[in-house]
Amino acid sequence: MARNSVQFQKGLSEPAFQEAYGSEAQCLLALETLRWPDGFVCPRCEHVGGHRLASRPRLHQCAACRHQASVTAGTVFHRTRIPLTIWFLGLYHLTQSKNGVSSLELSRRLGVQYNTAWLLKHKLMHVMKEREAEHLLVDLVEIDDAYLGGEKAREPGESGRGSPNKTPFVAAVETDENGHPRRLAMQVVEGFTLAEIADFARRKLAPSCEVFSDGLNCFPGVIEAGCSHSVCITGGGRRAAESPTFKWVNIALGNIKSALTGTYRHIDPRHAPRYLAEFQYRYNRRFDLAGMLTRLAYVSVRTRPAPYDQLVQAESHA
Ligand SMILES: [Zn+2]
Repeated sequence: MARNSVQFQKGLSEPAFQEAYGSEAQCLLALETLRWPDGFVCPRCEHVGGHRLASRPRLHQCAACRHQASVTAGTVFHRTRIPLTIWFLGLYHLTQSKNGVSSLELSRRLGVQYNTAWLLKHKLMHVMKEREAEHLLVDLVEIDDAYLGGEKAREPGESGRGSPNKTPFVAAVETDENGHPRRLAMQVVEGFTLAEIADFARRKLAPSCEVFSDGLNCFPGVIEAGCSHSVCITGGGRRAAESPTFKWVNIALGNIKSALTGTYRHIDPRHAPRYLAEFQYRYNRRFDLAGMLTRLAYVSVRTRPAPYDQLVQAESHA
Protein backbone atom coordinates (compact mmCIF):
# COMPACT_ATOMS: atom_id res chain seq x y z
CA MET A 1 0.00 0.00 0.00
CA ALA A 2 1.36 3.41 -0.90
CA ARG A 3 1.86 6.07 1.70
CA ASN A 4 -1.05 8.07 0.30
CA SER A 5 -3.43 5.28 1.10
CA VAL A 6 -2.23 5.44 4.69
CA GLN A 7 -2.74 9.18 4.88
CA PHE A 8 -6.16 9.19 3.28
CA GLN A 9 -7.64 5.99 4.57
CA LYS A 10 -10.83 6.24 6.56
CA GLY A 11 -10.40 5.97 10.27
CA LEU A 12 -13.27 5.35 12.63
CA SER A 13 -15.37 8.52 12.48
CA GLU A 14 -16.79 9.99 15.67
CA PRO A 15 -20.40 9.31 14.60
CA ALA A 16 -19.50 5.70 13.76
CA PHE A 17 -17.74 5.38 17.10
CA GLN A 18 -20.73 6.79 19.00
CA GLU A 19 -23.08 4.49 17.18
CA ALA A 20 -21.02 1.42 18.08
CA TYR A 21 -19.78 2.31 21.57
CA GLY A 22 -22.02 5.10 22.80
CA SER A 23 -23.65 3.23 25.68
CA GLU A 24 -22.33 1.28 28.66
CA ALA A 25 -24.25 -1.82 27.52
CA GLN A 26 -22.67 -1.67 24.05
CA CYS A 27 -19.16 -1.36 25.49
CA LEU A 28 -19.79 -4.20 27.93
CA LEU A 29 -21.04 -6.47 25.16
CA ALA A 30 -18.10 -5.48 22.95
CA LEU A 31 -15.59 -6.43 25.66
CA GLU A 32 -17.39 -9.69 26.42
CA THR A 33 -17.40 -10.64 22.74
CA LEU A 34 -13.69 -9.88 22.49
CA ARG A 35 -12.76 -11.75 25.66
CA TRP A 36 -15.21 -14.66 25.38
CA PRO A 37 -16.03 -15.15 21.67
CA ASP A 38 -17.61 -18.54 22.48
CA GLY A 39 -19.45 -17.39 25.60
CA PHE A 40 -18.49 -16.80 29.23
CA VAL A 41 -15.48 -18.81 30.37
CA CYS A 42 -15.21 -19.23 34.13
CA PRO A 43 -11.83 -17.96 35.35
CA ARG A 44 -11.96 -20.38 38.27
CA CYS A 45 -13.02 -23.72 36.74
CA GLU A 46 -12.75 -22.92 33.00
CA HIS A 47 -16.29 -24.12 32.38
CA VAL A 48 -17.84 -22.49 29.32
CA GLY A 49 -21.30 -21.13 30.00
CA GLY A 50 -23.03 -18.98 32.55
CA HIS A 51 -25.43 -16.11 32.82
CA ARG A 52 -25.30 -12.40 33.44
CA LEU A 53 -26.52 -11.22 36.85
CA ALA A 54 -29.57 -9.03 36.36
CA SER A 55 -28.70 -6.92 39.39
CA ARG A 56 -25.04 -6.39 38.45
CA PRO A 57 -24.70 -6.45 34.67
CA ARG A 58 -20.90 -6.44 34.69
CA LEU A 59 -20.94 -9.85 36.44
CA HIS A 60 -21.42 -13.32 35.01
CA GLN A 61 -22.07 -16.39 37.13
CA CYS A 62 -20.53 -19.71 36.14
CA ALA A 63 -23.13 -22.40 35.41
CA ALA A 64 -20.88 -25.08 36.91
CA CYS A 65 -19.25 -23.67 40.08
CA ARG A 66 -21.39 -20.52 40.53
CA HIS A 67 -18.27 -18.34 40.68
CA GLN A 68 -19.00 -14.74 39.75
CA ALA A 69 -16.63 -12.82 37.54
CA SER A 70 -16.68 -9.62 35.52
CA VAL A 71 -15.36 -9.29 32.01
CA THR A 72 -12.78 -6.83 33.26
CA ALA A 73 -11.40 -9.03 36.08
CA GLY A 74 -7.79 -10.04 35.58
CA THR A 75 -7.42 -7.72 32.57
CA VAL A 76 -5.93 -4.27 32.21
CA PHE A 77 -9.40 -2.93 33.14
CA HIS A 78 -9.24 -4.80 36.46
CA ARG A 79 -11.31 -3.18 39.23
CA THR A 80 -11.84 -0.04 37.22
CA ARG A 81 -14.36 2.46 38.52
CA ILE A 82 -14.40 4.36 35.25
CA PRO A 83 -17.41 3.72 32.99
CA LEU A 84 -16.56 1.50 30.03
CA THR A 85 -17.81 4.25 27.71
CA ILE A 86 -14.93 6.40 28.98
CA TRP A 87 -12.45 3.57 28.44
CA PHE A 88 -13.68 3.13 24.88
CA LEU A 89 -13.45 6.86 24.25
CA GLY A 90 -9.86 6.61 25.49
CA LEU A 91 -9.23 3.69 23.14
CA TYR A 92 -10.70 5.82 20.37
CA HIS A 93 -8.45 8.82 20.95
CA LEU A 94 -5.28 6.79 21.48
CA THR A 95 -5.75 4.83 18.29
CA GLN A 96 -7.36 7.38 15.97
CA SER A 97 -5.19 10.45 16.68
CA LYS A 98 -2.19 10.26 14.40
CA ASN A 99 0.21 11.87 16.86
CA GLY A 100 -1.28 10.59 20.06
CA VAL A 101 -3.00 12.66 22.71
CA SER A 102 -1.57 13.99 25.96
CA SER A 103 -3.10 13.12 29.33
CA LEU A 104 -4.13 16.75 29.75
CA GLU A 105 -5.92 16.83 26.40
CA LEU A 106 -7.42 13.42 27.11
CA SER A 107 -8.79 14.65 30.45
CA ARG A 108 -10.62 17.43 28.58
CA ARG A 109 -11.98 15.14 25.89
CA LEU A 110 -13.13 12.47 28.35
CA GLY A 111 -14.39 14.94 30.94
CA VAL A 112 -12.37 13.32 33.73
CA GLN A 113 -9.70 14.47 36.18
CA TYR A 114 -6.13 14.67 34.91
CA ASN A 115 -5.00 11.80 37.15
CA THR A 116 -7.76 9.58 35.83
CA ALA A 117 -6.82 10.39 32.24
CA TRP A 118 -3.14 9.79 33.00
CA LEU A 119 -3.85 6.38 34.48
CA LEU A 120 -6.18 5.35 31.67
CA LYS A 121 -3.68 6.46 29.06
CA HIS A 122 -0.72 4.77 30.69
CA LYS A 123 -2.63 1.52 31.11
CA LEU A 124 -3.45 1.49 27.42
CA MET A 125 0.13 2.47 26.51
CA HIS A 126 1.26 -0.41 28.71
CA VAL A 127 -0.93 -2.76 26.66
CA MET A 128 0.62 -1.38 23.47
CA LYS A 129 4.12 -1.92 24.87
CA GLU A 130 3.41 -5.50 25.95
CA ARG A 131 1.91 -6.26 22.56
CA GLU A 132 4.82 -4.75 20.65
CA ALA A 133 7.30 -6.77 22.71
CA GLU A 134 6.07 -9.93 20.96
CA HIS A 135 7.23 -8.94 17.47
CA LEU A 136 10.60 -9.31 15.78
CA LEU A 137 11.67 -7.45 12.67
CA VAL A 138 12.80 -9.65 9.80
CA ASP A 139 14.69 -9.38 6.50
CA LEU A 140 16.16 -5.97 5.67
CA VAL A 141 16.44 -3.49 8.50
CA GLU A 142 17.67 0.10 8.71
CA ILE A 143 18.91 1.07 12.15
CA ASP A 144 19.77 4.46 13.61
CA ASP A 145 20.40 6.17 16.93
CA ALA A 146 18.40 9.06 18.31
CA TYR A 147 17.50 11.02 21.42
CA LEU A 148 14.20 11.92 22.93
CA GLY A 149 14.25 15.51 24.06
CA GLY A 150 16.89 16.74 21.66
CA GLU A 151 18.55 16.36 18.31
CA LYS A 152 21.08 13.69 17.55
CA ALA A 153 24.28 14.23 19.50
CA ARG A 154 26.26 13.82 16.33
CA GLU A 155 24.75 16.92 14.74
CA PRO A 156 27.23 19.75 14.21
CA GLY A 157 27.60 21.94 17.27
CA GLU A 158 26.97 19.14 19.74
CA SER A 159 29.87 17.99 21.77
CA GLY A 160 29.92 14.62 23.40
CA ARG A 161 27.01 12.27 23.74
CA GLY A 162 24.13 12.35 26.08
CA SER A 163 22.78 14.86 28.52
CA PRO A 164 20.66 14.50 31.62
CA ASN A 165 17.59 15.69 29.74
CA LYS A 166 17.99 13.41 26.77
CA THR A 167 16.94 9.80 26.54
CA PRO A 168 19.00 7.80 24.04
CA PHE A 169 17.13 5.23 21.98
CA VAL A 170 17.58 3.05 18.94
CA ALA A 171 15.10 2.86 16.06
CA ALA A 172 14.98 0.20 13.36
CA VAL A 173 12.70 -0.03 10.33
CA GLU A 174 12.08 -3.24 8.43
CA THR A 175 11.72 -2.67 4.70
CA ASP A 176 10.23 -4.92 2.04
CA GLU A 177 11.85 -6.01 -1.22
CA ASN A 178 10.71 -2.76 -2.87
CA GLY A 179 12.38 -0.72 -0.18
CA HIS A 180 9.10 0.30 1.47
CA PRO A 181 8.82 0.37 5.26
CA ARG A 182 6.93 -2.41 7.00
CA ARG A 183 7.49 -2.40 10.74
CA LEU A 184 9.22 -0.17 13.27
CA ALA A 185 10.98 -1.20 16.48
CA MET A 186 12.43 1.11 19.11
CA GLN A 187 14.16 0.68 22.42
CA VAL A 188 15.58 3.03 25.01
CA VAL A 189 19.28 2.32 25.64
CA GLU A 190 21.72 3.25 28.40
CA GLY A 191 24.06 4.52 25.71
CA PHE A 192 25.17 3.69 22.20
CA THR A 193 27.37 0.74 23.08
CA LEU A 194 27.92 -2.65 21.46
CA ALA A 195 26.29 -4.37 24.44
CA GLU A 196 23.17 -2.20 24.31
CA ILE A 197 22.78 -2.69 20.55
CA ALA A 198 23.26 -6.44 20.98
CA ASP A 199 20.51 -6.39 23.61
CA PHE A 200 18.22 -4.45 21.29
CA ALA A 201 18.92 -6.88 18.44
CA ARG A 202 18.23 -9.94 20.60
CA ARG A 203 14.86 -8.53 21.68
CA LYS A 204 13.68 -6.92 18.46
CA LEU A 205 15.43 -8.44 15.44
CA ALA A 206 15.21 -11.95 13.98
CA PRO A 207 18.69 -13.51 13.81
CA SER A 208 18.46 -13.59 10.01
CA CYS A 209 18.18 -9.80 9.63
CA GLU A 210 20.44 -7.91 7.30
CA VAL A 211 21.04 -4.69 9.16
CA PHE A 212 22.19 -1.45 7.55
CA SER A 213 23.62 1.37 9.60
CA ASP A 214 25.68 4.47 9.05
CA GLY A 215 28.64 2.86 10.73
CA LEU A 216 28.46 4.28 14.24
CA ASN A 217 30.77 2.11 16.38
CA CYS A 218 27.97 0.46 18.34
CA PHE A 219 25.96 -1.02 15.47
CA PRO A 220 28.15 -4.10 14.82
CA GLY A 221 26.57 -5.18 18.13
CA VAL A 222 23.75 -6.68 16.04
CA ILE A 223 26.19 -9.40 14.92
CA GLU A 224 26.14 -10.79 18.46
CA ALA A 225 22.44 -11.49 17.96
CA GLY A 226 23.11 -13.38 14.73
CA CYS A 227 22.27 -10.57 12.32
CA SER A 228 24.53 -9.42 9.53
CA HIS A 229 25.65 -5.82 9.46
CA SER A 230 26.54 -3.53 6.58
CA VAL A 231 27.76 0.01 6.73
CA CYS A 232 26.29 2.20 4.04
CA ILE A 233 27.74 5.61 4.63
CA THR A 234 30.69 6.48 6.80
CA GLY A 235 30.98 9.80 8.52
CA GLY A 236 27.43 10.14 9.78
CA GLY A 237 25.83 13.53 10.25
CA ARG A 238 24.33 15.27 7.25
CA ARG A 239 25.53 12.77 4.65
CA ALA A 240 23.98 9.85 6.47
CA ALA A 241 20.74 11.74 6.95
CA GLU A 242 20.51 12.36 3.22
CA SER A 243 21.39 8.84 2.19
CA PRO A 244 18.51 6.98 0.53
CA THR A 245 19.49 3.94 2.57
CA PHE A 246 18.33 5.67 5.70
CA LYS A 247 15.24 7.18 4.19
CA TRP A 248 12.68 5.25 6.20
CA VAL A 249 14.34 5.15 9.55
CA ASN A 250 14.99 8.87 9.21
CA ILE A 251 11.41 9.59 8.17
CA ALA A 252 10.18 7.54 11.11
CA LEU A 253 12.52 9.35 13.50
CA GLY A 254 11.41 12.73 12.12
CA ASN A 255 7.76 11.77 12.57
CA ILE A 256 8.35 10.51 16.08
CA LYS A 257 10.04 13.71 17.11
CA SER A 258 7.42 15.99 15.63
CA ALA A 259 4.62 13.84 17.06
CA LEU A 260 6.11 13.72 20.52
CA THR A 261 7.14 17.35 20.69
CA GLY A 262 3.78 18.42 19.24
CA THR A 263 1.76 16.33 21.65
CA TYR A 264 3.79 16.36 24.85
CA ARG A 265 5.52 19.28 26.47
CA HIS A 266 7.74 16.95 28.41
CA ILE A 267 8.27 13.22 28.52
CA ASP A 268 9.30 11.75 31.83
CA PRO A 269 12.44 9.72 30.98
CA ARG A 270 11.17 6.97 33.31
CA HIS A 271 8.26 6.40 30.96
CA ALA A 272 10.06 6.99 27.66
CA PRO A 273 9.80 3.29 26.65
CA ARG A 274 6.02 3.48 26.97
CA TYR A 275 5.79 6.62 24.82
CA LEU A 276 7.97 5.05 22.16
CA ALA A 277 5.82 1.90 22.25
CA GLU A 278 2.68 3.99 21.77
CA PHE A 279 4.07 5.55 18.62
CA GLN A 280 5.43 2.21 17.42
CA TYR A 281 2.08 0.48 17.99
CA ARG A 282 0.22 2.97 15.80
CA TYR A 283 2.95 2.99 13.15
CA ASN A 284 2.87 -0.79 12.85
CA ARG A 285 -0.90 -0.79 12.38
CA ARG A 286 -1.12 2.27 10.14
CA PHE A 287 -2.72 0.26 7.32
CA ASP A 288 -5.68 -0.60 9.57
CA LEU A 289 -6.60 2.67 11.22
CA ALA A 290 -10.31 1.89 11.60
CA GLY A 291 -9.64 -1.58 13.04
CA MET A 292 -7.06 -0.39 15.55
CA LEU A 293 -9.57 0.38 18.31
CA THR A 294 -11.00 -3.15 18.31
CA ARG A 295 -7.54 -4.66 18.11
CA LEU A 296 -6.33 -2.67 21.09
CA ALA A 297 -9.45 -3.58 23.08
CA TYR A 298 -8.87 -7.24 22.16
CA VAL A 299 -5.31 -7.18 23.49
CA SER A 300 -6.41 -5.18 26.55
CA VAL A 301 -8.71 -7.96 27.77
CA ARG A 302 -5.76 -10.33 27.36
CA THR A 303 -3.25 -8.17 29.24
CA ARG A 304 -2.77 -8.67 32.95
CA PRO A 305 -3.65 -5.80 35.31
CA ALA A 306 -1.13 -2.96 35.46
CA PRO A 307 -1.86 -1.13 38.73
CA TYR A 308 -0.89 2.48 39.36
CA ASP A 309 2.02 1.53 41.63
CA GLN A 310 3.54 -0.44 38.79
CA LEU A 311 2.92 2.22 36.17
CA VAL A 312 4.63 5.03 38.07
CA GLN A 313 7.84 3.02 38.44
CA ALA A 314 10.62 3.51 35.93
CA GLU A 315 10.26 0.96 33.20
CA SER A 316 12.57 -1.64 31.84
CA HIS A 317 13.88 -0.41 28.53
CA ALA A 318 12.72 -3.17 26.30
ZN1 LIG B 1 -16.73 -22.06 37.31
